[in-house]
Amino acid sequence: MIRPILHIVLHFIVPAMAARLFYKDNYLKVWIIMICTMVIDLDHLLATPVFDPNRCGIAFHPLHSYPAICAYILMTSVSELRIIAVGLLIHIGLDAVDCVCMM
Ligand SMILES: [Zn+2]
Repeated sequence: MIRPILHIVLHFIVPAMAARLFYKDNYLKVWIIMICTMVIDLDHLLATPVFDPNRCGIAFHPLHSYPAICAYILMTSVSELRIIAVGLLIHIGLDAVDCVCMM
């Protein structure tokens, strides 16, 4: 039960570290924007059961699919979307780490 809790905590800590490291002047605003990217987890509502601690979300949920991940990567090239894109990629990266930890 510790892994899902740690996973959620990391969804807050890692964006905070990235915001602090790369956006020193307005890290709080950047951190909040990155935290808001967790909205992509709403795609879990399309799955049954909604929460399964032993299911890898990568390539399972629509907003965690490979085409979506490619879109997030492309979004990094648009300066206005870069913070959101980095937040999304951090989210996907953390979800991928969680998948590895399930094995
Ligand atoms: Zn996720």
